[in-house]
This record gives sequence, C-alpha cells and structure tokens, in this order.
Amino acid sequence: MHLRNETSSTATSRIGGRRRHCFLGGVGLSLRADTAAQEWDLTPTEAISFITRIGEYVQSDEGRAAGGLACPTTLQIAGGEPFSDPDALDTIIDCALHNLMRPEVTTLIRWVVTYDHASALLARFKGKLNPLSVYVTQCDIDRYGLQSLIMLVDAAHALDMNINVHCGMAPGMPFPREVLAIEGLNARTSIIRSFPMFSSSDVDVTSEGTCGLLLPEPPRYRRCADMMGFLIASNGDVYPCSRSYGIPELRLGSMRQNSVSELVSRALNSDQLQRLSTDGPGHLYAACKGSEVSSYLRSGYVDTCDFHRHALTEPAFAPILARTEHAYSNRPAHVVGPFNILAS
Ligand code: SF4
Repeated sequence: MHLRNETSSTATSRIGGRRRHCFLGGVGLSLRADTAAQEWDLTPTEAISFITRIGEYVQSDEGRAAGGLACPTTLQIAGGEPFSDPDALDTIIDCALHNLMRPEVTTLIRWVVTYDHASALLARFKGKLNPLSVYVTQCDIDRYGLQSLIMLVDAAHALDMNINVHCGMAPGMPFPREVLAIEGLNARTSIIRSFPMFSSSDVDVTSEGTCGLLLPEPPRYRRCADMMGFLIASNGDVYPCSRSYGIPELRLGSMRQNSVSELVSRALNSDQLQRLSTDGPGHLYAACKGSEVSSYLRSGYVDTCDFHRHALTEPAFAPILARTEHAYSNRPAHVVGPFNILAS
C-alpha cells in the first residue's frame, strides 16, 4: 500500500526537556495491500489495537528514551480506500487522536461523485484530519474526470483542510498537467508533487521513448532518512520505509507477533538501517558495479529505491551484499512491487 508514507526525519521527541531527532519519522498504516479494490484487508479492531499499542509505547518512558518514534507522531492511513468505511475510519482516527497521533489520510478521486457528497463526508473529519493527501494519475482523470479532483479540493478547503496532491507517472502515463491549472490548488497553499509508478524492470530500454526515463546510475549520496518510518502493512508486517514493502530482508517483524518495543529496537539496532539512513544504498551500488556480477545491473534505474529493491531481490547480488556486511537472508519467494500500492 502505498502508503506513500513520506515520513520525515525531522520528527522529534522531547527528552529531558530537549528535543531530538527520531530515527523513524512517523507511522504508516496500510488498510489494504493495493488500491485495486476499495475494501480494507485490515479490520478496524486490529487497526485500533495496533494504534493503541504504538501510542502506549511512544508515551512510555522506554519509548521516549529510545527515540525511535516521535511523540506525538503522525499516522498516515492509506490503502484500498480509507473513506469507503467512514464510520470505521472515524473510530480509527479518534483512537489515533486519543493516543496523541496526528492522523493523515491518503485517498483517490474515484469515490467523489458530487461536491455535496464529498463535503458531507469530509465534514465528519473536520478538525481531526489534516492534511488530506490525494493520489491521482492521468488515467484517473481520464476515467473519473478532473471535476472529481476539483470537487474534492474545494470541499477540503471549505473545511480548512490542507491538500497534498501526488501525481503518479509511468511510461505512457505522463504527469497530469491539468492539475496545475486547478484554481483551488493555486489559490491556497497546496503541495503538488510527482512520483514514479514504475520500476526499471517495466521499462523497455530499447525504446527511445522510455529509456530516457531512467537514471544511468542511482544518485550516490541519496540518504534514506527522509523516507524512514514505522510502516505497517495490512497483514501486520512492519517495514522501515514504504518502498521496502514485501522485501523480506528489510522486514522488521510483525505487529501480530512482536511488541512495538521489539520492532523499534530492531530498527534502532540495525547497522544496515543505520547506514542506509545516513548514506543510502550507494555503497551497495558501488560494490555491485565493481563485482563479477556487474552485468546483472540494469542499464538504468528510476531512482535509488528502484536500485535497492533490485539489489535485494536479484539472487546474483547475494554474495556481494554478504561481502559488504549486509548478509541478508530469506531470499524472497515473491516480492510485492511498491507501486502496486498506488496503482488504481
Ligand atoms: S533505498 Fe531502500 S531503504 Fe532506502 S528508502 Fe528506498 S527502499 Fe527504503
């Protein structure tokens, strides 16, 4: 789920009267592994249990001392369609607020039929939910109409909710430029950003139109700190960033089997994650490139995460990773692509 949880490394907690940075920037909760259907996989009861346990941990002396998660922390809710069950969503948001979390929701435009409907639904969350993030692609706009996005933006602004619009792009699916002309987004302070919805494995490098979408090499000094968080998949599995969903080597554990303390400690005590946080996976790229299996590297990558996922899932790189003290185990039998989370 895509939980495009853009957690922030600037999250802080107050320790001994001083503020300090926390390793995991926020909490992400995926209600469903993708957005192909609106129904949730995660039950509201289990979601509330997860949130309560995290809330108790971050407010505990142990949690505050560890500095893994901020208090208060953000809770980014996404996957399926969060607004498909407004009663359950309301309960989850109330639980988050009770546990000193700042809830944010990621939605799509397909449920927006009229302004009045969007306004009435969002009004239930006035004062509780801010900001509202919207994922949209050119395909969504072709299918549901730009008007759906305009109605959602206007309804949110009328309720003093901030809007972040995330525009997905892929080969053959360009940035939806009409979004830039929406008056409600331009007249108010809104964030519009683009993100790739594909990986280098999807790109035909022999095609002139698509090979230009790839970087010859991943940016060497792109650190991971800004992307790191405590991200819970709909099956309870916990990962340190949204782009690591489905990668066993980066899985921290499960909310169904581990305590929050254990999961946070694993992140804090992982040399692998500490180095990724400060340096990114550039050292892995350098090691792979200088190795006997460098031919397995693709001729380009969408971004740093695209390379990292490839490095962790291509069996030929396993000895290289082991040599660089990243002796990952449990080769994945099946990897859930990070972009499935956002596909609509
Ligand atoms: S490079 Fe890897 S660890 Fe870093 S944010 Fe991307 S997927 Fe996560």
